[in-house]
Amino acid sequence: MKACTIHVTGIVQGIGFRPFVSKLAHELGIVGTVRNDTSGVEIHIQGVDADCQLFIERLQSDLPMHGRIDTLQIEQANLRDLDDFTIILSQGVKGNAFIGADMAPCEACLQDIQDPKNRRFQYGFTNCTNCGPRYTIIESTPYDRDTTSMKVFPMCETCQAEYENLEGRRYHAEPNACGQCGPMFTLQGTDGTVLASGQDAIERTKKHIQYGSIVAVKGVGGYHLVCDALQEKAVQILRQRKGRPRKPLAVMAGSLETAKQYVHISETEEELLLSPARPIVLLRKLAEYNTVAPSVAPGMETLGILLPYAPYHYSLVPSNALWVMTSANRSGDPVLYNDAQALGELQGIADYILTHNREIISPVDDSVVQVVDDKPIMIRRSRGYVPLSIAVVALEKSPTMLAMGADMKAAFAMNRGSHAILSPYMGDMEHQRVQDLLWSTAKRYEELFQLIPTQVIVDVHPKYYTSQCGRIYAEEHQLPVIEVQHHHAHVAAVLAEQNITEPVLGICFDGTGYGTDGTLWGGEFLYCHKTYMERMAHLSYAPLPGGEVAVREPWRQALWYVNQLYPSGVPTVIKAWKKTLPKGWELLEKMMPHMQMIQSSSGGRLFDTVASLLGVGHEHLYDAQLAIELEQLALSEKGTILNMKLDGTVLDTMSLVRSVIEQLEYGESVAKISANFHRTLIYYIGQMAKQCCEERHISHIVLCGGVFQNRILLKGVMQELGEYKVHVPTQSPMNDGGIALGQLWLGSYMNR
Ligand code: ZN
Ligand code: ZN
Ligand code: FE
Repeated sequence: MKACTIHVTGIVQGIGFRPFVSKLAHELGIVGTVRNDTSGVEIHIQGVDADCQLFIERLQSDLPMHGRIDTLQIEQANLRDLDDFTIILSQGVKGNAFIGADMAPCEACLQDIQDPKNRRFQYGFTNCTNCGPRYTIIESTPYDRDTTSMKVFPMCETCQAEYENLEGRRYHAEPNACGQCGPMFTLQGTDGTVLASGQDAIERTKKHIQYGSIVAVKGVGGYHLVCDALQEKAVQILRQRKGRPRKPLAVMAGSLETAKQYVHISETEEELLLSPARPIVLLRKLAEYNTVAPSVAPGMETLGILLPYAPYHYSLVPSNALWVMTSANRSGDPVLYNDAQALGELQGIADYILTHNREIISPVDDSVVQVVDDKPIMIRRSRGYVPLSIAVVALEKSPTMLAMGADMKAAFAMNRGSHAILSPYMGDMEHQRVQDLLWSTAKRYEELFQLIPTQVIVDVHPKYYTSQCGRIYAEEHQLPVIEVQHHHAHVAAVLAEQNITEPVLGICFDGTGYGTDGTLWGGEFLYCHKTYMERMAHLSYAPLPGGEVAVREPWRQALWYVNQLYPSGVPTVIKAWKKTLPKGWELLEKMMPHMQMIQSSSGGRLFDTVASLLGVGHEHLYDAQLAIELEQLALSEKGTILNMKLDGTVLDTMSLVRSVIEQLEYGESVAKISANFHRTLIYYIGQMAKQCCEERHISHIVLCGGVFQNRILLKGVMQELGEYKVHVPTQSPMNDGGIALGQLWLGSYMNR
């Protein structure tokens, strides 16, 4: 007989790990105990030497579906007086770094709810140790039923028996429930009157949507607004009530087959659509798309689609249906998840509310992913991904840090050793409610994971709300603050994800970030090695006439370009263009030579300027709208290289804007000009990159920043630089949602 203690870390909670261990022990005739502790799971085993060996091998080889073992330590132990193998409660343990993410129903659970003979037929909250809600229902750790919002639902006898049955897949499935004992749906009017409950509520909701109503549906991480995506009028009303005039709306397809009738789906995209995280995947429209209401995604060649991700979606959304499914909050606000608040705020937005009595503890938005060159590119990392940690080797010996991220697409991060834990996407910090969400989520993370930061990392931007918060936090806790340059952090996020320690050329194109020289950067070629960063090259500067206003209204910068290019008399096309400008442009034109204007080398602004000149629009109706729609125009054209000047270490945007205007004069189509613009920029980014790499003998290139979410640009530059090792972020968002990860990585090096 032999006894030993095994300590396992990784993703080992909320994925049925303890039941799996217990089952394995029983199978091998081993006695002992298993319990969660602060950093993972502790297993005590006693048995014949060979059986213990086999146990340890199978622990790793037979790991449950969503598990991940990062470390496994074995120590000799004393024999105890035991005659069985049991799961023991994790007493005294407060936090754990490894809480699971919310998962779509597994195949077995789907079969249960689709089988009329099964006792869970159509039961919308069916789950097991392989699937179901996690992060959104956990109040505190360790993860047990009592610490989730399921604690108010005592299990019926049958469920309790499943929960205790070693052989079943619901053994210690904490959210286990059935129609007899678990959460239930009600359909309410906006005044809170209950109109129907249970399956009847689902059936009536279905009818209301088919008849063109807008129904708020409580999801896993928050409320959605739902309407039929084939009914233009319903979609228009939804947009108007939500205050979202143009930003594309995500749609849920009732089945993969239905999705395939509207969009192209590659193998990788299909995998993503069907993955347990069930993100929204941005997909290219088919010609058959034209039955979809035009208001769903105006100006777009792509459509954001997701498949049913909660058990009840399978009985709610008909398999041949395509329904708009967008977060129910008003534009700019964070996701709506509190029931009382929802009831108040959905007045006048939804016609009906389909809600349930399982409380959402932590809100999460739907995640968004797109596939470029067969690589999944994360746009929004939330439901299904948070709070799963990202393994960062460089953080191994680091103390816990709090990285505040940036103000747009805000997400912060903390680490427990080498595990970087990113917050869900929160929104843009200019909104009060997003600011509140930042504070409450940070507090929740500290408690859930029992993390006590020893230093705070912020963006150098003096006006970022997140940076100010970080400083306040640091002052309250008497912690040091480290400042990190924005684009350096973008590059570092990729270095962190992919454990790159060599020097790299980081090509970072984004909307705006505060540069080391007080100007706004965003078209950068950075030599980066650990904490060292040097700006090797960049896009030329152009001012922002009116500052922030010029970001929202790109015609202002376009007008500056025009006046620089044609000081004495503009071409006819520009005369016509000026006539389309918003009122007041003449005044700005007169004042411009005398205005103090902040300079910017932003790639995002360049796209905006070109979009304005091509008539895509003059003002953004949502963040990055014009750049996005400019890309859409180019999707079905092949571009040719126009004239652009490469002036030493500066890529001259003035020459490129001139080329674009000349194309307009030739009478070239807007789509073709957009394609040419993309092609030219790709080519010259490539030229500049090669020049930088040769100079410093670099073979690794990192592409990052929100502008690279443009799939033509990303794919083009990757091809252009095919001879190098090109890295793009795949686990953290390409946009500012990934900044916090880079901040952590840089923080860890600054500590050495
Ligand atoms: Zn399941
Ligand atoms: Zn039950
Ligand atoms: Fe950025």
